[in-house]
Amino acid sequence: MAQETQLAPEVRSRYEAVIGLEVHVQLLTRSKIFCSCSTRFGDPPNSHVCAVCLGLPGALPVLNREAVSMAVKAALALNCAVNPQSRFARKNYFYPDLPKGYQISQYDEPLAEHGWLEIDSGEQMRRIHITRVHLEEDAGKSLHEGFADSEEKSYIDLNRAGVPLIEIVSEPDLRSPEEAYEYLTQLKTVILYLGVSDCNMEEGSLRVDANVSVRPSGAEKLGTKTEVKNLNSFRYLQKALAYEVERQIVVLEAGGGIEQETRLWDSRAQKTLGMRSKEFAHDYRYFPEPDLLPLAVPEVWREEVRRTIPELPRAKEARFESECALPKQDAKLLAASPATANFFEAAAKLSGEPKSSANWILNDLAFLLQEMGKSLEDSPVSADQLAELIVLYRDGKISSKIGKEILRTMARTGKRAADIIAEQGIEQISDSGKIVAVVRDVITANPRQAEQFRSGKTATLGWFVGQVMKATNGQANPQKVREVLEKELAPR
Ligand code: ADP
Ligand code: ZN
Ligand code: MG
Repeated sequence: MAQETQLAPEVRSRYEAVIGLEVHVQLLTRSKIFCSCSTRFGDPPNSHVCAVCLGLPGALPVLNREAVSMAVKAALALNCAVNPQSRFARKNYFYPDLPKGYQISQYDEPLAEHGWLEIDSGEQMRRIHITRVHLEEDAGKSLHEGFADSEEKSYIDLNRAGVPLIEIVSEPDLRSPEEAYEYLTQLKTVILYLGVSDCNMEEGSLRVDANVSVRPSGAEKLGTKTEVKNLNSFRYLQKALAYEVERQIVVLEAGGGIEQETRLWDSRAQKTLGMRSKEFAHDYRYFPEPDLLPLAVPEVWREEVRRTIPELPRAKEARFESECALPKQDAKLLAASPATANFFEAAAKLSGEPKSSANWILNDLAFLLQEMGKSLEDSPVSADQLAELIVLYRDGKISSKIGKEILRTMARTGKRAADIIAEQGIEQISDSGKIVAVVRDVITANPRQAEQFRSGKTATLGWFVGQVMKATNGQANPQKVREVLEKELAPR
């Protein structure tokens, strides 16, 4: 980024960044929020539409109970107070993908407010406050074909119109692009644990608008913010914010002022570009939605939903650390997605070896999966298959080197560890008699090295272990080999 190098560090350090995120998350209901059309992604355009989501005159919305349950679940997990009564409101604007001419959203009486999410800001944990979580419907999608110099066509696909969304608005509590990245990561993890969205950014299930301003370090008063849109990856969010912070500082340093505006991230140019200024800001003319009753979430319903909230990432991470005696970093990696956490917990439980399970999953299996271009969700080695391998290793049936090879074969063939060992005859040799025989052969064949060892050059022991392992195709138990060698090589 050209601008980054323009700004001297001492200038940069005189300013503080202030960031607040507005995150839209599509809920995983089977049908839309106000009609019974399917929410399935990727079907032929306009194949999931009806009078309601097409906005035909006279059609009336009927609220999807499951969408409310999911939204309440997310709000509670984000430590929000769920309002016993909230209200839908019409947000009026014209756009081709919005057939009704308004979006049903919530405005001054949102579903939930006053929450927080804890993030790891490097040195300490910080609470990022959440202003509100509200329910709304998604708009349709415009598809553009052709480029500026050829014939341009636009198409409208209304399959997405009416898919339920929650909008999660944070307070301007984030202080750096890195913190914004961490907040979004943590938010996504929580939502995935709850199972209320797949948070698939490529399919638009998770969308972020970032609000950013700068102020002199130590100042109380917030600076004028800009809003950055079109952020379709976590990396772009971080890059766009870093760019925008620098841009604003450069403007202020030159004696200029920040214009309140919406800017777009152009990933090709690695820049934010002005899109519309506040002058052209929308007046949405919000008013209460007359076709829907106020939304009541009585305590009984709310508490029923609360009971369905699973153990959340932070709690899981802490438990992995204390119960399984894992290093913090490992616990964090394993808790980072429900798929990883479930896999680990299953393997640890079945093998009775949490530490070893963590190591195999985070190292050997992770490496293999990466090589195969797969994730843990479609791992060819299941948690119980891995657990079997771990037990065979713990019981000294195989060496760690052979274990790694067996894992590779398991991934390739789908066979179980015990079957591979039986087929290939690669069980570890722990039988002392056999090892003694090989050790003696090796010593006899290498009298000079044996003499060196006996005259005090004990470092040759490692070399001898290597020779015995080689002679047994790596199948001898290295621990046993070492013991036998020490005995056999001892000065007589
Ligand atoms: P608007 O009225 O423009 O929609 P809001 O007050 O509703 O602004 O805030 C929208 C988002 O912008 C929230 O996430 C909030 O935290 C963030 N925000 C508000 N003021 C600032 C600021 N000065 N700098 C950075 N972010 C801000
Ligand atoms: Zn419909
Ligand atoms: Mg707002």
